Parts: sequence; C-alpha cells; structure tokens
Amino acid sequence: MNSAQRWRARWQAFRRPISEEKTRVLQERWASLPPELRTDNQIAGRHLTHCGFTLGASYCSFHCTHCYLPKNANSVPIPSLAQVKEQIDANRRLQGPGGGLQITGGDVADAYWRAGRPNELVEIFVMRFRSARFQCS
Ligand code: SF4
Repeated sequence: MNSAQRWRARWQAFRRPISEEKTRVLQERWASLPPELRTDNQIAGRHLTHCGFTLGASYCSFHCTHCYLPKNANSVPIPSLAQVKEQIDANRRLQGPGGGLQITGGDVADAYWRAGRPNELVEIFVMRFRSARFQCS
C-alpha cells in the first residue's frame, strides 16, 4: 500500500469507522442472540464482537500457585500450525475485521521455545496480525 492509498484508507476509516463486513457480522451476532438477551443494554453483538482466544498450547514454566492452567498443562501437545491457523481464520470469520484475538495457553513463547518450534510462533503472530487488519476499499 503506497502513501496515497494509506491516507485514503485512513480517511475512509474516519468517515465510516464500521466497515460493511463488520456491520454484517454484528447483525449476524445480534440475530443469533436469544430474544431475552436482545436488550437495550446489550453491547456484545451489537456494537462490538469482543475478543477471542486460541486453544491448544498449554504450557508455562513459572508454576504460579494461582495458575489457571490444568494439572496436565505442560504435557499437552501443542497443536499444529494448520490447527492454529484454522482457529485464527474462524475468529476472523466470526468477528470480522479488527476483532481481538489472544494467542494464549500459558506462556506461549515458553511453550514454542521448549518445543523447538519458535519460528512457528512467529508465523502465528504474522497470521494473526494479517487476519485482524481492517480491509479498506
Ligand atoms: S500461565 Fe500465568 S499464572 Fe500460570 S504459571 Fe504461567 S505465568 Fe503463572
């Protein structure tokens, strides 16, 4: 994207901060809610789609006493790159552009480093970054 295209995209985002795709996703979320949750104060599914997180990696070396990871955390195999990509793609489909996604499951840097797969984690972050970008036309 050159400088003129970037400025056009910024201007477009300023004029129409919610893209057509995001509008469609929000309408789908709203329509999927049970009637009792479609209240005036309902925000998720109406003004935002909130934040997702990946499942799979479950590893950390710190062993904090209050840790949320399960007892078998450090022995659970890390999912393949294709499986994580599937999760990232699903999050993008469900949230539209600009949705949040946490790459999580304990200390993922620690997990991928110890598994000898640090480059895979870099690929995951690049995929995640690309999937979250707003598409301005
Ligand atoms: S995942 Fe978080 S809470 Fe659990 S051991 Fe690691 S740093 Fe501590």
